[in-house]
Amino acid sequence: MELLKQRIREDGVIKGTEVLKVDSFLNHQMDVELFDAMGAEFKRRFSGCEVNKILTIEASGIGIACLAARHFGCPVVFAKKSQSRNISDNVFCAKVESFTHGKVYDVVVSREYLHPEDKVLLIDDFLANGEALRGLAAIVAQSGAQLVGAGIVIEKAFQPGGANLRAQGMRVESLARVAAMSEDEGITFAD
Ligand code: 5GP
Repeated sequence: MELLKQRIREDGVIKGTEVLKVDSFLNHQMDVELFDAMGAEFKRRFSGCEVNKILTIEASGIGIACLAARHFGCPVVFAKKSQSRNISDNVFCAKVESFTHGKVYDVVVSREYLHPEDKVLLIDDFLANGEALRGLAAIVAQSGAQLVGAGIVIEKAFQPGGANLRAQGMRVESLARVAAMSEDEGITFAD
């Protein structure tokens, strides 16, 4: 998506070799017009898939998922990060290792909001090692719902998540794929 790539080139801040900061339009301040255009693009890519629920993970995925949901005409469910040792029976649960903090935490979704008849699209801001998507997909599998695929804003294609998940059969659509980045040479997009 050209508009997004242009914005990343202009406003993205590269931290070391692994982390891209896009706080000015995605992860802190949010450009809602851009989110709306991204939502329209997700809808175009997943049109005909009869998505009736979007599943994301708190916190950064929520804004993007909400704007996307306007285009799909469906609700958003967000998986909550839980510190609690006692996970109740009323939730689907998966363990996820955080890319940014390195910690493993539980993510939970109430059984009330995912059902076997649902067709679920996952949405998230970044794809790196694929842990967040793997956890969300595990939750969808527990619910018996159908996983349509995943819509990602920025995929760091030099990290293994996207390739691994596609090899396992997940349809992953990323609006911008970063092939390489460095503080000295900037960003190269994959396509
Ligand atoms: P994964 O689970 O695929 O390893 O990492 C994805 C999650 O880590 C995303 O939900 C996102 O919050 C965070 N993340 C991974 N890489 C980056 C990055 O380069 N920049 C930012 N801002 N977040 C990232």
